[in-house]
Amino acid sequence: MPLPTRIGFIGLGIMGRAIAANLVKAGFQVSVYNRTREKTMEFADMGCQVAATPGALAKMSDTIITMVSDPAAMQAVMDGPDGFFPAFSEGKALINMSTLSPDYTSSLAAKCLAAGITFLDCPVSGSKSAAENAQLVILAGGEKMTVGRFTPLLKAMGNAVVYAGPAPAGTALKLCINLIVAQLTTALAEAAALAEAQDLSPELIFETLKENSALNCGYFSLKKKNILGKEYPPAFPLKHMLKDAGFMLAEAAKRGLELPVTAAVEKLMAKSYNSGYGDKDLTVVLANLTEPLRR
Ligand code: NAP
Repeated sequence: MPLPTRIGFIGLGIMGRAIAANLVKAGFQVSVYNRTREKTMEFADMGCQVAATPGALAKMSDTIITMVSDPAAMQAVMDGPDGFFPAFSEGKALINMSTLSPDYTSSLAAKCLAAGITFLDCPVSGSKSAAENAQLVILAGGEKMTVGRFTPLLKAMGNAVVYAGPAPAGTALKLCINLIVAQLTTALAEAAALAEAQDLSPELIFETLKENSALNCGYFSLKKKNILGKEYPPAFPLKHMLKDAGFMLAEAAKRGLELPVTAAVEKLMAKSYNSGYGDKDLTVVLANLTEPLRR
């Protein structure tokens, strides 16, 4: 079956904006919808059709890609007023790239199956810069043959597609990867706070990590500027990682598994969120560790 070329993209936030732009650059016919209309303007300038509603987008697309915040946002664009699902017909495809819960993703897969719509569960690993440079790692759940069929499209957005198994395996894998990212971030923040408390420059931490080939991790370099400058422009907003930590803990609890470090990290992130830092990059947890020291 040929690859569908009429792509409808929903969700032009930090990630979606960069991903959709790469699809345009790769030559796909892209139409867009975003709740906040201003964010669609640059796409109109690129020659994309802008849909007034998700339902209108469904009529101009063979494949819809969603990159929205969470299950509530997905529900709103799918089944809310003028949602895309009722306007989407049999034979079309839905690729979800947002990080949703495994349970919600299973329900999406079942809903699509019943309606004759192909569903791919494709959350991504990689943040804003990886999205901009089409270097995301796409964690693919769904039928293996379908993932293979859509791989040329997925490869326009990322450098690798890791096949995880039937849906919601892409989402299940995404939670495992984000567990590591959440812990690495808080480890960096706590190390920086401890260095400061001992009158050491946190810069020395990064210098040491860089010189140690076993610890020289690209993620640390990516977050160095935030940690040292104590400025947190959002690449991965804290509110999204807090949502993901909730999903991790819920999945673990369902299986009688304890994740004590993740639970502690979630608590720290919740404190940061409650301090009003939800829209900042998740490195902002450092603020909650160091601010009391200054009082
Ligand atoms: P973001 O910048 O906050 O963008 C969220 C998008 O969802 C926006 O387009 C927003 O529309 C839309 N949205 C939110 N609530 C909505 C609603 N009720 N109805 C309709 N649209 C709604 O988030 P992001 O960083 O791009 O992340 C998107 C997803 O990817 C999340 O699930 C996140 O966990 C995941 N993710 C993020 C990263 C990262 O590094 N940022 C990396 C991997 C995965 P408006 O523009 O109108 O607000």
